[in-house]
Amino acid sequence: MANKNRKKRRHHSRKPKISFWNEYRFEIIVFSLLAMGIFLLVEKMEIKMTVYRWVKTFIIITTRLISDASQTTFQLIQEVETSDIIGLILILTALFMIYLRIRKRTIYRFATLYECPNCGGELRRIHRKISHRILGLLLWTDIKYFSCNKCDFHGIRMSERQ
Ligand SMILES: [Zn+2]
Repeated sequence: MANKNRKKRRHHSRKPKISFWNEYRFEIIVFSLLAMGIFLLVEKMEIKMTVYRWVKTFIIITTRLISDASQTTFQLIQEVETSDIIGLILILTALFMIYLRIRKRTIYRFATLYECPNCGGELRRIHRKISHRILGLLLWTDIKYFSCNKCDFHGIRMSERQ
């Protein structure tokens, strides 16, 4: 008789001690990269002028890339100031880091759909929407779309691309 399972309520709110640096490392690095990149780019002139020049350079590079051989593009890149290039690289690195983090978090968040979160029912795979395909491309992830067999729940599951 005494074999009734006792459900123990385990409340492990064990939070490991995290230092300020460990917790905000990502934010600090990204912010520093952005700040340094922007500083290098606008060091000498107004932000507006820099943005204007960027847009102009971008358009010129794009048109030359399309119309011309890569040689002229290379010459054009050589004309751009070194600090501009470094600034751009820093900013792009920061943006890429942000992208990677958002991607990882999103995949992690949507990785665990194995039963219906509303009723616990079984899921069956259904056709994805176009928005799922676009999202899958943007985040470079596999997206599967499911609907519940019992209720009207629909949801997606994400996983790393094979
Ligand atoms: Zn359900």
